[in-house]
Amino acid sequence: MALGVGVWWWYHRPPARPLRISAYPTPPYVLVRDGKITGPSVELFDLAAKRRGIELQWVPANIDPDEGLGPVYDLAQSIPSASHYGRKFHLSKPWIKSDYLLLARRDRVDAVRQARPGVKIGSLKMQFEEDILSKFKQSFVKEIVASRAEAIARVCRGDLDAALLTARTALVNLLARPEGCQGVALDWVDTGARLPISIGAAPGMARFADAIQAEIASLAVSGDVERIYSRYGGVGPEAATFLVMAEGERSRERLGWAAAGLSALTGGLLAALYFLRRAKAQAETATRAKSEFLAAMSHEIRTPINGFLGMTSLLIETKLDAEQREFAEAAQVSALQLLALLNDVLDLSKIEAGKFELEHCTLDLHWLIESTARTLASAAQGKDVAIVTRIAPDAPRWVLGDENRLRQILLNLGTNAQKFTERGSVTLSLDCLERVGDGIAVRLAVADTGIGIEAEALPRLFRKFEQADASTTRRFGGTGLGLAIVRSLAELMGGETGVESEVGQGSKFWVDLRLKTAAGPVSEDTGVPALPRRTLSGRVLVAEDNIVNEKLIVRLLTGMGLDVVIARNGAEAVDRFGSGRFELVFMDCQMPVMDGLEAAQAIRRSESGGRRVPIVALTANASVADRERCLAAGMDGFIAKPFKINTIRGEVERWIPVPAEPVETPT
Ligand code: ADP
Repeated sequence: MALGVGVWWWYHRPPARPLRISAYPTPPYVLVRDGKITGPSVELFDLAAKRRGIELQWVPANIDPDEGLGPVYDLAQSIPSASHYGRKFHLSKPWIKSDYLLLARRDRVDAVRQARPGVKIGSLKMQFEEDILSKFKQSFVKEIVASRAEAIARVCRGDLDAALLTARTALVNLLARPEGCQGVALDWVDTGARLPISIGAAPGMARFADAIQAEIASLAVSGDVERIYSRYGGVGPEAATFLVMAEGERSRERLGWAAAGLSALTGGLLAALYFLRRAKAQAETATRAKSEFLAAMSHEIRTPINGFLGMTSLLIETKLDAEQREFAEAAQVSALQLLALLNDVLDLSKIEAGKFELEHCTLDLHWLIESTARTLASAAQGKDVAIVTRIAPDAPRWVLGDENRLRQILLNLGTNAQKFTERGSVTLSLDCLERVGDGIAVRLAVADTGIGIEAEALPRLFRKFEQADASTTRRFGGTGLGLAIVRSLAELMGGETGVESEVGQGSKFWVDLRLKTAAGPVSEDTGVPALPRRTLSGRVLVAEDNIVNEKLIVRLLTGMGLDVVIARNGAEAVDRFGSGRFELVFMDCQMPVMDGLEAAQAIRRSESGGRRVPIVALTANASVADRERCLAAGMDGFIAKPFKINTIRGEVERWIPVPAEPVETPT
């Protein structure tokens, strides 16, 4: 800052002595009479210089700037801006412009105006004059004259048709009425050309010339120039050019303000951008922190909720009077809703925290559709709604993807469809959109014949906590998170979601995904891709050390008509497995004595390539890595704790043949 002020002062410091400035007699602007130099231009320069702390000393000088500038005077008041002097000396920006006109005898003025061929124009041998003539009328015949006075005399004599002069010279010369011009009527033609005039500066004097020029410009803006010149007999032709310059200066000033405003605005915008970026970064950090907190919290809450749910399920199975049963069932419904909400929040917060890992395993899309339809049908709650599946003939079957997440998408859409449909059908469909190499674009869709959605609500549905209208929660329950999860999951898989709906007619929600096709597993005996088995009977081994979970599973499995054998640790599980025939094993991973992974490996070894019994892991560690560890140990399925009853049921149905559920498939 101090340095800046110092530099400014250094540059603007006044000269140590008065500056000599040349005074050419150019009446009425600069008058030199009896050694006294006066006139409006003199007054203007004095004022401008004084305002910049410069004292001027006027020097009557008829010496050409080439020789005079420096030895005789420090500043030359009036030098054409584009003249050759600019190569030798510093010239300020123009402080005035000289108008050029063609002075002619009145009887010749028309010939000049019309530029008749052969019209003779006298001009000084100066670049600017030559330029004007060639630009103005090419047809003129140019005659070089030695001085302006000579040019005027020759015009008056009729020797030249016109003389090219600055308006100032013409005026001065006409006032003086040179020899031969008395009684001659003269007129003039405007050339439109204006010669910019600068202040010339001797070496080392440049900043003073610039300062005076700048001050003259601001005096023109403030009206002082006009005031000075009008005192000397009105606004002459050149004073008018001051006004033009003043106008230019005003525009420059306005432009300056505009530029200042603009840069302030730009500065403001940049600052806003900076704060916005910072706020965004902070918000992102905050969102991540929030999501991580939510993920941790809902994970912690899910464990006791699962215990609560299990125990209420058991409680309901005991002898209860009607009122007690009602209370227990209400408690169970609330717990189930809470669990659903927690699961949704957990999923969303994991996605937002960027902690959601997708699997890429071979999966059966046809089975995905069919089994989801079964799950929906089993939860139909006595509604008159058929669950229909439609799989396009060209739709791929085996693809690489995350089966659980795809099922979650379909279940979310399916339960919505079921919830908002009183009668008719809910159709789960699979279509092939496009095949490119080993890639395939598929559409998984759920269409219903339910209440439909208002067009204006459609764009908001996929946002968090959005419902079609305010009465939805009251009438149908729900949190407004299901579709947000569907969209987030689909986007995570690089897919897109869509919806179309008509009030009273129904809705169709879909997810378009690009997947890679995969080779299906080959069954040992037939050599064709294995199909899920669909009849129920047999024994299930459950290795689980947690008493609540154990009771829950036992209740579930026995409820499905299966026999259950319990093992409390891995070693016991291996032991029991060896002493009986089982259709399925549920294996907790963390158990005392021997953990589930070790036990699974031991079981696989004991089968020694014979009949392979499916083993489904039950674990609280639900990451992709955990799943891979389980599969590597020889397990076939994977259920994350806390589990939903339907998940266990779905897994059982996947491996143990069950009688077909009432699933309609249109022909
Ligand atoms: P939730 O169902 O928990 O309220 P969703 O995000 O799954 O949350 O759905 C948001 C809203 O979209 C629902 O509340 C409902 O208003 C509307 N909606 C979703 N699916 C359907 C459907 N199949 N038919 C009619 N409305 C639907």
